[in-house]
Amino acid sequence: MSAAPIQFLDLKAQQARIAADLRRRLDTVLDHCQFILGPEVQELEAELARFCGAAHCVSVSSGTDALQIAMMAEDIGRGDAIFLPAFTYTATAEVPLLLGATPVFVDVDPRTFQIDPAHLAQRIEHVRTAGTLKPRAIIGVDLFGQPADWPALTEIARANELFLLDDLAQSFGGSLHGKMLGSQADATATSFFPSKPLGAYGDGGALFTESADRADLYRSLRTHGEGKTRYEVLRTGMNGRLDSIQAAVLLAKLGVFREELDARERIARVYDQRLGNVVITPKRVPDSTSAWAIYAILLPDEAARDRMQASLRARGVPTAIYYPRPLHRQPAYSAHHDGSALPVSEDLATRILALPIHPDLTDADVDRVCEAVLAAAV
Ligand SMILES: *Cc1c(COP(=O)(O)O)cnc(C)c1O
Repeated sequence: MSAAPIQFLDLKAQQARIAADLRRRLDTVLDHCQFILGPEVQELEAELARFCGAAHCVSVSSGTDALQIAMMAEDIGRGDAIFLPAFTYTATAEVPLLLGATPVFVDVDPRTFQIDPAHLAQRIEHVRTAGTLKPRAIIGVDLFGQPADWPALTEIARANELFLLDDLAQSFGGSLHGKMLGSQADATATSFFPSKPLGAYGDGGALFTESADRADLYRSLRTHGEGKTRYEVLRTGMNGRLDSIQAAVLLAKLGVFREELDARERIARVYDQRLGNVVITPKRVPDSTSAWAIYAILLPDEAARDRMQASLRARGVPTAIYYPRPLHRQPAYSAHHDGSALPVSEDLATRILALPIHPDLTDADVDRVCEAVLAAAV
């Protein structure tokens, strides 16, 4: 094997594709010097809202800050129970805790990896019966690019009068039942961290909502709780804005984003077809499209995963483990967990493995990944 290693993510190759538009947009920012809430920020918010069919978009400083602003706007805090999947990135659980609320971990589906609505309903009932915490909100995560079961989550949220927040950090660009993700919940938070499907050159995020009142609150909260004028402070807020340079980068990337989603989908299909008989490939959520932030396969057990990962590494194929530990097993969160069993999340953590999937993989790269997996699986 003499070929250079494949990149897990190739931001240099992507930059080469958008170089001219990117430079022009960055030069414009350098010319006008409106670095905070400049014209690129308004333009981006309008484009993003149109892209995902949401009524309002408020850009913010990160995906984590988007989640935090959405929860601050609902006055979530001490004594509140926030239901969220145990198998997700740490930020989903961190935000309720920062606000003094308690995360209540819910298990996920073993094949789509999305939050399990039946277990969610049980967990809400359990918290209600225990009587110490007040059920307040559900954070549904669209994991790895695919959508959560939004019709089921909406029904549970309505029946229990809970605020429904969509953590879309990994799946901006995905869709469900013919509709882009972004307006499935009361509010949607996404991230533009560089490795997300639509990534900036630094931190960034956005909130989407159908409610004009919520959008106004989000704008106030991202700028220190300001009122109609800058020096009127209505509430405790934060410094949570997206800057003009990141907005310019995102506008350039949005210009090629649909093509990139198509490229990721094509690669996913090749993996499905060529690898589906030797490893467990991800199950598609019915009637949906994925943004394919992550393409994760399942191996029979941890030892088999270790062997597969080592064998791929030897052939120049990088892999990653999302997530090696479910959140209720993290030292920072385990004391907040009520001890309920979350067997699927625990099992996935030992068997899951992510293969490279990004729009700049060549057909030869994809073939090489497949050959390496097939060779390791025998
Ligand atoms: C990346 C991510 C976040 C946080 O986004 P940042 O922009 O890095 O703050 C939140 N939730 C999930 C599921 C994520 O993957």
